[in-house]
Amino acid sequence: MKEKIEIVQGDITKLAVDAVVNAANNTLLGGGGVDGAIHRAAGPELVAECSSLGGCETGDAKITRGYRLPARHVIHTVGPVWHGGTKGEPELLRSAYRRCFQVAHENGIKSIAFPAISAGVYGYPMDKACEIAMTEAKKALENYPELEKVVFVPFSEGALKVFQETFRNVFP
Ligand code: ADP
Repeated sequence: MKEKIEIVQGDITKLAVDAVVNAANNTLLGGGGVDGAIHRAAGPELVAECSSLGGCETGDAKITRGYRLPARHVIHTVGPVWHGGTKGEPELLRSAYRRCFQVAHENGIKSIAFPAISAGVYGYPMDKACEIAMTEAKKALENYPELEKVVFVPFSEGALKVFQETFRNVFP
């Protein structure tokens, strides 16, 4: 199962997978960080489709087309803002990953790429966020046999190291 996981440092907007995940905000109308990068690369059709979706609750996920991205779809999810960890943040981050995998399954998606949801502007500690990302990927690979590839996309060298170490712990 661990051979279905890849860790690729760089820009998630360049990846030709069935779906890239966007770490969006509740409006789904675009923002900074990876959200801004995805909207810039996908073109204005993306925000047009997003504006018909009625936003997204924290911990939920919604799918759109990918437009000018090499990825066919975008799965928009909203992770929690980190407030120290006692405001339900771990459950909400788990839910965000779980909903992404569910929506992927419902749409026949076989390859999916994730940024480090919540670990940018939303302030979630990278090591804790990675642990949740990897353990939810493991569960999804157990539950959804059609899933062929799960790509994690750390943006920085530091994030890459954390993803690699977490991978070794979760997939010994
Ligand atoms: P959030 O608001 O959920 O924290 P951010 O976009 O601020 O979302 O950050 C999430 C993670 O995505 C951060 O680790 C950030 O460095 C990373 N990131 C930013 N741009 C890109 C990109 N183009 N590709 C992949 N990851 C990115």
